[in-house]
Amino acid sequence: MRCEACGYPLQGLETSDHCPECGRPVAASVPSARPGTPWQHRPSISSWARTLWAVTRHPAHTFSSLRITPVLPRTFLLVNLFLASFLLVDPWSGVLVGDPARAAYSLPLPFNYLLRAAVLAAQVALVAILPYLLCLAAEGFMRLRGVHPTTARHICTLASCIFIPAAALPLLGLALSYTLHRFGGPSVAAFMGRTLHLSPTSPPIAVSTIIAAATISLGFAIGAWITFARFRTGFITCRYALPVNHVQFESH
Ligand SMILES: [Zn+2]
Repeated sequence: MRCEACGYPLQGLETSDHCPECGRPVAASVPSARPGTPWQHRPSISSWARTLWAVTRHPAHTFSSLRITPVLPRTFLLVNLFLASFLLVDPWSGVLVGDPARAAYSLPLPFNYLLRAAVLAAQVALVAILPYLLCLAAEGFMRLRGVHPTTARHICTLASCIFIPAAALPLLGLALSYTLHRFGGPSVAAFMGRTLHLSPTSPPIAVSTIIAAATISLGFAIGAWITFARFRTGFITCRYALPVNHVQFESH
């Protein structure tokens, strides 16, 4: 067992002792000292939302409360991956040329909705693979840096809820540019309605398209940054943590 703050080996010390390197109480590095996230206490919609809020607002505190158990909370990861993917895919489903959901618009009524829902579900499942691969890559990196495999998976599972606000940011960027165009007043609407030639040979581009692309890209960039920051906090906070039952600590 190591000190969770500095990584100093704590073998041979008592729970009443302090880390000789940094002074943190040994008892605070015992795996069972981690109380668990709200979701780990009782999985529900409410505890999921509270865990998401905690990771977004108080990441270091939340990761330090993460209980590393032999049982992995897979439902939590799946909910996060699919919800984030839905936020990414939904605004674009049926928009782009060649999208099967686009063809569904011409169908008669129940089939119209059924086909669009089926295509959207398939697109969401496909896009959900991307954040999952990101989790696997982060997990692999942490294991290479000496993090216990179970701990690495727990860190990435908890961090995965940041994909939801991250995926909502490009959508927010789109909404922002739409709001500006729609409610910004006549002068803004006139400016955004203009077209520009970026080069003499290129086709004209509407200013509104450029602004939408810029706000959506900004949303993506901030989303990527907060995602990186949360995985990093998880790694720094939990890298020396071990699963409960892994350490047989004798209390005297
Ligand atoms: Zn220490």
